[in-house]
Amino acid sequence: MKTNLHGLLLYCRPGFERECAQEIADRCGEAGHLVEVQAEANSGWVEARAEGGALWALTRVLRWQDLCFARQLLWSGRTVEGMSPGDRVTPVVEAARALCDGYSDFLIETPDTDGAKSLSSMTKKLEPHMGEALEQAGAFTDDPSAPRLHVLFTAADRATVALSWPNRRSEWLNGIPRLRMPREAPSRSTLKLAEAFHTLLSEDEQERLLKPGMTAVDLGAAPGGWTWQLVSRHIHVTAVDNGRMNPELLESGLVIHKREDGFRFVPRKPVDWLVCDMVEQPRRVAALVARWIAQGLCQHAIFNLKLPMKRRYDELQLCTDLIGEALASVDKKHELRCRQLYHDREEVTCYLGVPGKAGGGRKRKR
Ligand code: SAM
Repeated sequence: MKTNLHGLLLYCRPGFERECAQEIADRCGEAGHLVEVQAEANSGWVEARAEGGALWALTRVLRWQDLCFARQLLWSGRTVEGMSPGDRVTPVVEAARALCDGYSDFLIETPDTDGAKSLSSMTKKLEPHMGEALEQAGAFTDDPSAPRLHVLFTAADRATVALSWPNRRSEWLNGIPRLRMPREAPSRSTLKLAEAFHTLLSEDEQERLLKPGMTAVDLGAAPGGWTWQLVSRHIHVTAVDNGRMNPELLESGLVIHKREDGFRFVPRKPVDWLVCDMVEQPRRVAALVARWIAQGLCQHAIFNLKLPMKRRYDELQLCTDLIGEALASVDKKHELRCRQLYHDREEVTCYLGVPGKAGGGRKRKR
């Protein structure tokens, strides 16, 4: 397959371009390739340039699933600028044909910024015309392993063409999961845990590790959005929080409410899951979760790390190092996966589990 890659293109939460840029530069560096990263503050995307050979080598190493701050990982071609409103199709199709000679399908996307949202009515109208023109130009193939074409409009007259590889990308449009807010859930943060299950666990893990009858502790549970996710899977929850829990959840018969300090609470018997959404210093939470896994108090944990405004990337690195060292000191193998979810704000959500109990999947550090 002929490809003419210019660089890497990543989507991220607006305001987190610096972290996304730092992370991709580090991952490429670890793979032995230097990249030149460009990131405009609050744009919602990051570009990294390297020579063609390095980019091609990186396609075999980098996966979106292994990145924390990127919502999507693409391989970019040309940026078309100065398009006339009368014909945006022809120059984009030309750029797409120059990037790769066979796509499985295509998406038109925009960054997750208020400015770019105004482009979505234009891109919706454009989509059928673009599809027809790509079809006529012979840009599609039936090969399911072929890349997908992404056309990222960053202004009404500017678009970058890019491609993504199956199994190494987010399948969501704009890299943003569309999850339905359950009406009965007591808080919107329920979507955070729902998204964490979807994106931090494989489908097989979701089935194996979230079974009716399992047990969990929810630290910082009130009013109960995370507990609700567990209860809806018929998991028994001990909800630890001085705050008030949703009364309907308590009536489910699956929840015990303990008004205690989450840092001091110890379960009488080990549980399958620990989930933790306490607003606390990230390294304190990281140390707490590492201790639960090290002492065998739980097998799996999902927890939120609220990052400070400054040095967020360094703080996350410090937390993952802290967990790695705590578990290495008791010779406990583990898997740690961290991701800034769409439903996260100034924070990231992580999965920590004991391998074998969690199966394969994305690994960050051991
Ligand atoms: N996950 C919850 C939900 O989905 O409804 C929301 C949790 S809210 C962001 C944070 C909670 O952590 C608050 O209810 C607060 O009372 C609790 N919290 C903070 N520090 C705590 C501690 N040391 N022990 C127990 N709970 C704590």
